[in-house]
Amino acid sequence: MALIPFDDRDGMIWWDGALVPWRDAKLHVLTHGLHYASAVFEGERAYAGHIFRLREHTDRLLASGRILGFDIPYTAEEIDAACIQTLAANGLTEGYLRPLAWRGSEMLAVSAQHTKIHLAIACWQWPSYFGDDRMAGIKLAWADWRRPDPRTAPTASKAAGNYMTGTLAKHKAESEGFADAMMLDYRGQLAEATGANAFFVIDGALHTPTPDCFLDGITRRAVVGLARRRQIPVVERAMHPEELGRVSEVFLAGTAAEVTPVRQIGEHHFSPGQITEVLVRDYTDLVRLPPDEVSTRLAA
Ligand code: PMP
Repeated sequence: MALIPFDDRDGMIWWDGALVPWRDAKLHVLTHGLHYASAVFEGERAYAGHIFRLREHTDRLLASGRILGFDIPYTAEEIDAACIQTLAANGLTEGYLRPLAWRGSEMLAVSAQHTKIHLAIACWQWPSYFGDDRMAGIKLAWADWRRPDPRTAPTASKAAGNYMTGTLAKHKAESEGFADAMMLDYRGQLAEATGANAFFVIDGALHTPTPDCFLDGITRRAVVGLARRRQIPVVERAMHPEELGRVSEVFLAGTAAEVTPVRQIGEHHFSPGQITEVLVRDYTDLVRLPPDEVSTRLAA
């Protein structure tokens, strides 16, 4: 597929309260968010005309900004409405949405107390993060980079700066023929992939690392709800790479990645099995339900 640069597309982007033509959504190069990573964002998917878990994403966006010390100057209701408006303005019912908030160009130094906080929302078609053959299972390399101690980086925020090591790890994995990288945390425990949480099947139960230094993903929480509905035991705990020998199935969960089976992590091989298959199917069904039914299903 030909890669169309993101600044060479058509459509509408919501920016600080109004829709602007895609090609006009340009930023000054002396913007604090670009130099100092004072930016937070969301990744959302729309299915069948509805944005899946929209309010959860909006709440996380607002919380991510507060963690970086700024208040995004819109209410959750206004941001939800803007996301829905952006999707409609681009004529999409299925797609990926990218809300982004950042510090502006009023000041350009480490101190940025008087910068204006901006918010933009774009959306585009993004069929499958790992390509059409992802159901066969993807291959993950081990990342050299680790998820940091929460005292080292604002790990609970979906902050742009937290993706610096993700890109480095993903590029290295791709250069070696892998689809993505599995990251350990600062303690050497299993953490997550560069843009999705991870689940491991051991003896018929689903195990997943406690998200105490990386995002507790919205997809992750949905998968936990779906597994519990199926009476599949779910264990959230500290997990170690030495355990992979006992693991039979692995999958990733994230908005872009959806539920993607994994067939290899470094030297360990797995085959997508029954639990992965059932959760891929349940998630595919869940995202297409109207929002109130999604909430009911996950609350049950
Ligand atoms: N971890 C990272 C680093 C991510 O970028 C994402 C995607 N936002 C996730 C986990 C999964 O989060 P979610 O399910 O909310 O998309």
